[in-house]
Amino acid sequence: MFCALMNLPQPPTRFASYNKILLNAVKLVSEGTMQKATLEAILENGSNDNIAVAVDGTWQKRGYSSLNGVVTVTSIDAGKVIEEEILSKYCMCSNKVSHIKDCERNSEGSSGSMAVEGASRIFQRSLTLHDARYVIYLGDGDSKSFAAIKKENIYGD
Ligand SMILES: [Zn+2]
Repeated sequence: MFCALMNLPQPPTRFASYNKILLNAVKLVSEGTMQKATLEAILENGSNDNIAVAVDGTWQKRGYSSLNGVVTVTSIDAGKVIEEEILSKYCMCSNKVSHIKDCERNSEGSSGSMAVEGASRIFQRSLTLHDARYVIYLGDGDSKSFAAIKKENIYGD
């Protein structure tokens, strides 16, 4: 469709076979970049691993009906994304009870509860993944994530 709109000839090959290769490369680079950004944030914070973060969620569609969303955590000191959690309610399985191995669904419920779930997963793995605690939380107040994380008391008192 893109080629037709640009008045170009059809592409010589299908791109679908390259998606997995591209995905693996993007995953590798993004994980390394976020790891590096977290180290930078800790250094900016005087080598203290209790860092300040901004948490926000965004969805594929507006309203509360989106099947896909992403929660990101950005370091306030480094100004870079240090974590993301992609959430999807989309299920392509014909049998909705026993999902296939490649099923992308990893969440249920409303977009609001997906935001809470995503933020919670990120905070729960911060110590094992980055050896860091996200102790200062900046959010826009449009979700119940902060209240949920506070209640979970992930890092103790
Ligand atoms: Zn499924």
